[in-house]
Amino acid sequence: MDGRRVLVRADLNVPLEKRVVTDDTRIRASLPTIELLRERGASVVLVSHLGRPKGPDPELSMAPVGERLGELLGIEVKQAPGVVGEEVSSMASGLETGEVLLLENSRFEPGETKNDPALAEALAALAELYVNDAFGSAHRAHATTEGVAHLLRGYAGLLLEREVVELTAVRDDPQRPLVIVLGGAKVTDKLGVIDRFLGFAEEILVGGAMCFSFFKAEGRDTGNSLVEEEGVESARRVLEEAESSDTILELPEDLVAGREFDADTETRELNGVDVPEGWMGLDVGTNTAANFGKRIARAGTVFWNGPMGAFELEPFAGGTRSVAEAVAAAPGHTVVGGGDSVAALQGFALADAVDWLSTGGGASLELLEGRDLPGVEALQDASEAAHG
Ligand code: ADP
Ligand code: MG
Repeated sequence: MDGRRVLVRADLNVPLEKRVVTDDTRIRASLPTIELLRERGASVVLVSHLGRPKGPDPELSMAPVGERLGELLGIEVKQAPGVVGEEVSSMASGLETGEVLLLENSRFEPGETKNDPALAEALAALAELYVNDAFGSAHRAHATTEGVAHLLRGYAGLLLEREVVELTAVRDDPQRPLVIVLGGAKVTDKLGVIDRFLGFAEEILVGGAMCFSFFKAEGRDTGNSLVEEEGVESARRVLEEAESSDTILELPEDLVAGREFDADTETRELNGVDVPEGWMGLDVGTNTAANFGKRIARAGTVFWNGPMGAFELEPFAGGTRSVAEAVAAAPGHTVVGGGDSVAALQGFALADAVDWLSTGGGASLELLEGRDLPGVEALQDASEAAHG
């Protein structure tokens, strides 16, 4: 590695408030690969996207990320004025061993999301080797995640590798029984996972707003609950398939309802799952939480994605807290993915008790579904081409 320049695609897509990093989890998760490369005598050209700008946008500059990264690494991180271009090239070629240059937000270049070959070439010209550590973006075929991987000799970073190993183990070779816990707002995002695990997992536990698509499919009253209509038909199909499969599909047996999506709203515990007119189901009830907790405790492997309720609102955080506590205490191998589920665990100070916290929401779901991730495939294609 001595003296070599390495282009590292990291996932530094962190939340910002007024250009200050409010959660540096993803920056910290990227440190091992950057530190290993520096120890081995490389210099690092680092690139990531941040938010969803349609072009250059000072509000979404990487500068605050570079500052935080510099504090964590204990060095000055050089900030490039753009993603590519003459000035960026000369900064990259001037890097000394161990130095880190952070490129601007990759989405400032319209060619990023189009996987434009010219942008990929310009990026490849900045370095001699490529390392992809951006698992959270590996499900997208963009210039920094896919295009450039075909132009430089490429390697998986430590984080990306561990993510693939952990999630592949859940998908292909879990300790039994395998319990999949799904919640959150969108059924359609998670249907692929249900499809994949029906007939493979021992148990699938469904909470969150997702459950109302199932209840609607069963013909129940859902009141003002958040129901994803596109999900109802699919939920009906899943319920049918579940009947003839060996997998136990558990839906909530009780709920906590509120008048409105608000922490100060009137609340009510429902003994069953029919939601009266004028109310919305905002959390699973205590019996459901206890049942899910018992099943999680017996699992050999647990994968959890999506909160059990509107956990941001204290009156509706109970179900998510119970599941988080059960996952944290479970003797089996525990893997949690999804931005909000991870945030919930962190909020309850339970993140350290989980075996693997995935940094990829969409990417972790797509891997579990059995879909190829372009960012991972491109590395494999490139290494096969290099090694014959
Ligand atoms: P993740 O980021 O973990 O994948 P999602 O993004 O799918 O999870 O869903 C998280 C959101 O789902 C949270 O903002 C939460 O408030 C919301 N949610 C969960 N249950 C309900 C519910 N019963 N009604 C309304 N919103 C809900
Ligand atoms: Mg989310």
